[in-house]
Amino acid sequence: MVSARRVLGRLAYGTRYDRVPWGQRVYVRPGERLVREAQWRWRLRRAPVLPLEDYQADLPLGEIEEFLACMMCGDERQQPLFRPAGEKWRYRVVRCPSCGFLYRNPNIRPERLGDLYATGYSKFLTGKYAANRQRRYDLTMQAFSPILDAGEGRRLLDFGCGAGLFLELAEQRGFDAYGVDLSPDSVAQANERLTKARAFYGAPEDVPEIAEGGFDVITLWSVLAHLPRPLDDFTRFRSLLAPGGVLLILTVNARSLLLKAYGSAWSGFTKNHLMFYSSDTLPTLLRRTGFAGVGYAPHYGDTVEAGTSRLPDPLRARLRRAVEATDGGNMMRAMAFADDEAISRWGGALKVRRLRESPASAPLESAGH
Ligand SMILES: [Zn+2]
Repeated sequence: MVSARRVLGRLAYGTRYDRVPWGQRVYVRPGERLVREAQWRWRLRRAPVLPLEDYQADLPLGEIEEFLACMMCGDERQQPLFRPAGEKWRYRVVRCPSCGFLYRNPNIRPERLGDLYATGYSKFLTGKYAANRQRRYDLTMQAFSPILDAGEGRRLLDFGCGAGLFLELAEQRGFDAYGVDLSPDSVAQANERLTKARAFYGAPEDVPEIAEGGFDVITLWSVLAHLPRPLDDFTRFRSLLAPGGVLLILTVNARSLLLKAYGSAWSGFTKNHLMFYSSDTLPTLLRRTGFAGVGYAPHYGDTVEAGTSRLPDPLRARLRRAVEATDGGNMMRAMAFADDEAISRWGGALKVRRLRESPASAPLESAGH
């Protein structure tokens, strides 16, 4: 069956882009990004904005679910936008009309989060998938160079460490590395894999070796979208960081051009994702939890990052330009800085946005004169 979308694509572009993978076409077909962004603005203008009571009035609420207001700015109003669904799951995604934050509503009650991760989740994290995943970590880290090039005994915490694939790389690079995860199966597998680094089951505050803090690096690889109480978690991360410490984040990008193009069918709407951040909303989370700055490294997609993309050079260049011009890569890669020392030590190649006034710009006290 030929979809309407395909027919339209054929009319507009002929067969020239047929060999470009779906996930890249939006970025390389001339003019398409402008069309998709106009489509997005139109969608936002048309979708109604409802008070929370009206929004929740007609919606069923599952046993493990709860209704939320915007966790970034507190606005209770709801702009329903998407209804993603897969095999045996479906949910609703709303946008905050004040700050633009996208989140699942109803969301999952934190104490029932375990229900989302049925046994067998760890299988998904091993085998052939593992090698690809490790390669992806390696590439992801290069954008943050030099911080992850050599550990030299510095303390690193991988939050949501899964089966320990990243921890293995971190211990090989000389970090004093620790991990935590909510899946006991995964933690057991991680500890089989690791030699010096160690993985723990549970929350950071329950593990003495981690609760003592003093971490130079905390990593959140594909974890942020899974957190039901991000403000609590980030307050804890900030307190676990040593002076000069940084938090590294890779998550799906709520400004993705693919989201604007495919809506509810976007690949970032997976069964276990709860909240969707972008460079518009992540700074709010970081500012409210005491971080001093944030910088981004655009993500061009796995095959372009890995140098295995088969796109001809001019199209690859066009893809890069489209990602940069729209801040619309499908993943967001960010570095958050605990304090000014972290910015001056590791900010280097990134354009750092400061999240609070530096002490020098605060009014001078006149006491004692
Ligand atoms: Zn908001």
